[in-house]
Amino acid sequence: MPQRKVGNLLRCPHCGNERSFFEIADDIITTTHYVQNPDGSFTIEEKTTQALGDVKLFCGNCEEDLTAFHQRFTEMIF
Ligand SMILES: [Zn+2]
Repeated sequence: MPQRKVGNLLRCPHCGNERSFFEIADDIITTTHYVQNPDGSFTIEEKTTQALGDVKLFCGNCEEDLTAFHQRFTEMIF
């Protein structure tokens, strides 16, 4: 069965990688919500992070700076 062809994969122009990417963000605020259990222990209920500073995107293979694609990248995170 042929795989559905997606015509617009994000692809590293330097090495052709289209599988792994990483993001580096400055000035992160992390908010973690906990629920206390009857035995006094705590369980993480929800964790959210918010970047206040610059967010940069890099190729996971060759570490090329792909920040120019970052806007599109964030729109495709589900
Ligand atoms: Zn690359």
